[in-house]
Amino acid sequence: MVASKTIVGILFDKDGTLLDYVKSWVPVNYELARIASKGDETLARVLLQAGGMDPDSGFVAPDSLLAAGNTVEIATGMVGAGAPFTVEELTTLFDSLFARSADYAVPVTDLGVFFAGLHAKGYRLGVASSDNEKSIRETARRFGFDSYLHYVAGYDSGHGVKPEPGMVLGFCAATGLEPHQVAVVGDNNHDMHMGRSAGVGLTVAVLTGTGSRQSLAAASDHCLADITELEAVL
Ligand SMILES: [Mg+2]
Repeated sequence: MVASKTIVGILFDKDGTLLDYVKSWVPVNYELARIASKGDETLARVLLQAGGMDPDSGFVAPDSLLAAGNTVEIATGMVGAGAPFTVEELTTLFDSLFARSADYAVPVTDLGVFFAGLHAKGYRLGVASSDNEKSIRETARRFGFDSYLHYVAGYDSGHGVKPEPGMVLGFCAATGLEPHQVAVVGDNNHDMHMGRSAGVGLTVAVLTGTGSRQSLAAASDHCLADITELEAVL
């Protein structure tokens, strides 16, 4: 990869990339369905299945609504599948749930050490997530890497949503970089497609989320077990 030699900025997805998806989000998805069903267990199972999660095994399908959707998209899907709320009501409830859930998130590695290492090498660093910006900032504070971030974008930050290129272009505007100098790292195809539609120099998939080597092969330049392997491909 000739382009990889010029990478100076790295834009990370959060869930399934910095945070272990299964450990951090499967319990939240069960709670999300309980809230959206008002405690109706039969409806909760229907809602989980509509979101792409098997209510028995907890397996979440790659690129499904729960794997990749932002809060508004998930709320819309749950209302469409029978949740007795308006999209606006559910979005508010989910945003609150997701902000609380930052307390229970399980990181893939020691994120403070990980980001300090990249920062020391001069990389510009950012997070682009389909979660809300408040949750992202709480996660960054909790795991000790907030001071290394040059940029944070959630679905509600005004840069558009994945797989649109806006979050990458916002990172470029905040750091003064060109897209070809940027690597996007994520666990879903909407991360890879966001990167490619913005014209980034490198797309890197990781397997700590809901994607598989197979589901991520077409849109990624590299597919890694987790972010600790990243420096080898930069
Ligand atoms: Mg993700």
